[in-house]
Amino acid sequence: MFKTMKRIIKWTGEYKKRLYIGFLWSFLQTLFTAFPIMGAAYFMDFMIKDSRGEIQMQPVMAWYALLFMVVAVLGRFLFSYLRATFQESIAYEKTAEERIQIGNILKRVSLGFFDENNTGEIAGAVTTDLSVYEMYAMKMTDVIIGAYIHVAAMILCLLFFCWQAALIALAGVALSAFFLHLVSRSSSRNSVVHQKAQNSLVASVIEFVRGIAVVKAYGQEGVSVKGIKDAFREHQKINIKIELDYVWRNGLHQISLKLASVGIVLVTAVLAMQGEMELPVFLMMAVFSFVLFSQVEQVQNGAHTMQLIETAMNKLEAIKNAEFIDTGAGNAAPENYDIAFSDVDFSYGRNRVLHNVSFQIPQGSATAIVGPSGSGKTTICSLLARFYDVDSGSITVGGTDVREFTCDSLLGNISMVFQNVYLFRDTIRNNICFGKPDAAEEEMIEAAKKARCHDFISDLPQGYDTMIGEGGGTLSGGEKQRISIARAILKDAPIVILDEATASVDPENEHLIQAAISELARGKTLITIAHRIATIENADQILVVDRGRIVQCGRHQELAAQKGIYRNFVETRERAEGWRITGNK
Ligand code: ADP
Ligand code: MG
Repeated sequence: MFKTMKRIIKWTGEYKKRLYIGFLWSFLQTLFTAFPIMGAAYFMDFMIKDSRGEIQMQPVMAWYALLFMVVAVLGRFLFSYLRATFQESIAYEKTAEERIQIGNILKRVSLGFFDENNTGEIAGAVTTDLSVYEMYAMKMTDVIIGAYIHVAAMILCLLFFCWQAALIALAGVALSAFFLHLVSRSSSRNSVVHQKAQNSLVASVIEFVRGIAVVKAYGQEGVSVKGIKDAFREHQKINIKIELDYVWRNGLHQISLKLASVGIVLVTAVLAMQGEMELPVFLMMAVFSFVLFSQVEQVQNGAHTMQLIETAMNKLEAIKNAEFIDTGAGNAAPENYDIAFSDVDFSYGRNRVLHNVSFQIPQGSATAIVGPSGSGKTTICSLLARFYDVDSGSITVGGTDVREFTCDSLLGNISMVFQNVYLFRDTIRNNICFGKPDAAEEEMIEAAKKARCHDFISDLPQGYDTMIGEGGGTLSGGEKQRISIARAILKDAPIVILDEATASVDPENEHLIQAAISELARGKTLITIAHRIATIENADQILVVDRGRIVQCGRHQELAAQKGIYRNFVETRERAEGWRITGNK
């Protein structure tokens, strides 16, 4: 728990100063809580002395006492307010920065990182885990550190009147801190065991449910229920153990504080009886002994929250330690846009998907990649965009290895349009401007016109300000595709990659999309993964991929004349497209 606290403080980074000043306010706030008690004791002392006739009390003193109380209460509110303003916003500001930072990190890691760590977990880290932080980090700092500051300030006040009482209080706090340490140590140890038991419980329930048909069919309930029963029993045993472990440690923590309170009352009572302490001071000590530990007593309630924070922190750290794919790269611009793959091998994990892939694409030419599904076409494009790094061989743009560019400087030169369009939950305008955020309105509309989407956008009641649902819910597939092409046209990158951009739209939309694509590809170095004969026929070069190898390469005429995969492909396609034309009549 205290270790987690230390990590939180470290996490606040440049806000640390504000955090510490907040602690100072917190300290002053406690002093102002203690002042009324001390003031009351003094006042009582005067009253007693007055009643004994030792001194003569003036009525004005009562006014002073009242004023003192008012000042103390106001001071307490003031410092509590100051503490909140200094500390509480830290978490919000810091998590906002953190979200942006993580976004920047994720932009620069290999896509393999997302395959290895499931995307749900990463999304969870950025949303839920950071929210846990946002909500609890500062609150817990106040609960835990604040509690110790509170008790320290109180002990200082005690010290002012009676060093013995201060010493007892100190010993009580130290002892309780020790037992709290035991609580958090055992709870972090137990949480591992608990997680394991939980997992095995879930697994056996799933197994039971999956196998239920078999169980019923063979009348074997007895056997299969045993697995579940065992898992439940184990789970129950562990929970009881965790509870017992907690109870005695937590009990000792509470008892240390209670004993210290009792000790203070006893010692001061003895001193008072021996006449070494005035009666009002003794009474004040008794009051102090009640409020002294009130906050430290609550500290263990935060143990669970601290555990949550700790887990969140570990996950975030794992993301932050992810390896950048482009460390050591420069922000260079390529000299030209000739593309060359030489002897590229690539595997996803241990699954080798590309073997010795070599080809060249001259600047300004159009290349089509064809091949059966799963042969590695998309992978070739992903490697060019450096979503992954090659295992061996090299990929160059303008003679420079893609590994020498930063992700931003490489991707600045590439526009990609995919079969599955992803549009952001934002306005159409912002979706188009995504590739060029500073584009002027006319520029944006020009791009939309070229992409053949200006007309349907203008027909929408809110035009370019229409919000798009998650993934583009409210638009048709073809419309979404054209918006994504407008985005690419506006970006105006010299290299254009189209991955089955027209594969899943109806013929009418396909015609419009083809027109949009022609606009996009004008004068660009174009790589198309396509099935349509019309698209492939006009390419300057066709690469035929089969099981991760380039098996044929050339123009349509040459390849169609040869026996092989390409000719088979063309024949099947012609039959399919021919069938569709007649089918549509
Ligand atoms: P294509 O685009 O030609 O259909 P891909 O390049 O998408 O083929 O896939 C080539 C092979 O790599 C396939 O066997 C596919 O299962 C595998 N693959 C693709 N993406 C991944 C990934 N992210 N992780 C693991 N394997 C993948
Ligand atoms: Mg593909």
